[in-house]
Amino acid sequence: MIHSPCGNVNRLSPCMADGKCTKSFPRNFPNDTITNVDGYPIYRQRNTDNGGQSFTKNVNNADIDIEKRWVVPYSPRLS
Ligand SMILES: [Zn+2]
Repeated sequence: MIHSPCGNVNRLSPCMADGKCTKSFPRNFPNDTITNVDGYPIYRQRNTDNGGQSFTKNVNNADIDIEKRWVVPYSPRLS
């Protein structure tokens, strides 16, 4: 599942509050999967320079490069 691009390209997105995404997107590209203090895993995600994939999506008449940082990660096994 892809988190719809928000921030400067889509300030009217429902996830926006006080100019920031309340879901902390776009995410960083951690090199390893880690568990943070809240117990939520932060999954490893590759950027396009490191074998990650991307595609272009048109949002509000602007072409946005969607990388792994917009992916909502989950593990069916952990869910
Ligand atoms: Zn957002």
